Amino acid sequence: KSSLPDVRERTLIAVKPDGVQRRLVGRVIQRFEQRGFKLVGLKMLQVSEELLSQHYCELRMKPFYPSLLHYMTSGPVVVMVWEGHNVVQTTRMMVGHTNPVEARAGTVRGDFGIHVSRNVVHASDSLEGAKREIQLWFQGKELLNWDSCDQTITC
Ligand code: ADP
Ligand code: MG
Repeated sequence: KSSLPDVRERTLIAVKPDGVQRRLVGRVIQRFEQRGFKLVGLKMLQVSEELLSQHYCELRMKPFYPSLLHYMTSGPVVVMVWEGHNVVQTTRMMVGHTNPVEARAGTVRGDFGIHVSRNVVHASDSLEGAKREIQLWFQGKELLNWDSCDQTITC
C-alpha cells in the first residue's frame, strides 16, 4: 500500500473564444503549470454545435443556452487535459465562480472576467464530468504520458 498521492486524476480545461481573442491562452496555461499540474493533451479547434450540444447537454433547457452556443462558436477554443493529484477540485478553485462578479481575485475568472456570458475558461466540475468531457473532446491517442526528468541535458 502506497502513501503517495494519486496523481493520475485528469480534468478538461478550455480557454473559451473570448480568452483566445483576448490573448489570455498563455497566462491560463501558466497558472496550471505553476501549480504543478501536468499537461497531457492540448489542441485548438473551432467547435461544432454538435460537440457543444453534448458538452453542455445539461444546460439545453436554460434560457441562455442559444447565446451560449453562439458564444462558444464565435471563434476557436484551446482545449487541454491536465493531470495531477486532486486536479478537478483544485482547477475549479483556480478558475473561480461561474459568474465573474462572484469570483475571487486570484482566480482566472476573478482576474480576467466581468460577465457570466464571457467567463474566459471552462473547467470540468467533477471526476465523472471530467471523464465524460475528456472522451468527448479527445481521442485516446491525443493524450500523452510523459515523465519528468531532472537531467535535462542527457534526456
Ligand atoms: P461552469 O462553467 O462554471 O461550470 P455552468 O456549467 O453552470 O458553469 O455553465 C456553463 C457555462 O454557461 C458558463 O461557464 C457560462 O459560460 C454559461 N452560463 C452559465 N450561466 C449563465 C447565465 N446566467 N447567463 C449566461 N451564460 C451563462
Ligand atoms: Mg459546468
